[in-house]
Amino acid sequence: MTLQNAGWRALDVLFPKRCAWCGKVLGFTADACGCDKSREAVRLPNAPLATPDLEGEAFFPIGAWACFAYEEPVRGMILRMKYEEEPALAQPLAQELAQKYDASGLAGQFDVLIPVPMTPKALKKRGYNQCALMAGALAVHAGLPCEEAALRKTRHTERQMALDRAGRLQNVRDAFTAEAGVAGKRILLVDDVFTTGSTANECAKALQAAGAAACGVLCVAASLIE
Ligand SMILES: [Zn+2]
Repeated sequence: MTLQNAGWRALDVLFPKRCAWCGKVLGFTADACGCDKSREAVRLPNAPLATPDLEGEAFFPIGAWACFAYEEPVRGMILRMKYEEEPALAQPLAQELAQKYDASGLAGQFDVLIPVPMTPKALKKRGYNQCALMAGALAVHAGLPCEEAALRKTRHTERQMALDRAGRLQNVRDAFTAEAGVAGKRILLVDDVFTTGSTANECAKALQAAGAAACGVLCVAASLIE
């Protein structure tokens, strides 16, 4: 055993990582949010999500994939990552995205990862964009560039969770703009929560308007509400 391994083993004993669902000890170096058995219960199929109903409007992404149903404890992890200054949670959630990326056969389908952006003002207030943290980690796994600056959010929007379907569609309409550098590229958007699909759709519309060849979206969790 190397000294470093011995160190990890000691940390395992002192501060073991636990399954977010059942509390089972996973070990300090575990890279997923929970044990296989618990994750299986909330894991979504590797197939793309059903195309959402955007009130007659076409859904621009070629597909949307999500790791989990938007339920506890994933819901709580995402909310803590976003609103309670726990950016470190982006790391285990990015590991889940990486597993989903592999299991869903997304390798080879996309050229560039782009996180769903925040406005500069919102980014300054939070200090980080959790989607950019996850996309950066996923990019290393996927061996693809992460081009955070290629998509910009140009105006403030309300929190989607507080709105109904029609309100969400309206809230994010034309809120994004993409740089010309995306032309001809197949873009995989990285987001935390997929609900009505309206945010992903607006991002995809902006990317397509800038000449992107295709756009898909990979999310941590999907809440397919009515
Ligand atoms: Zn468990």
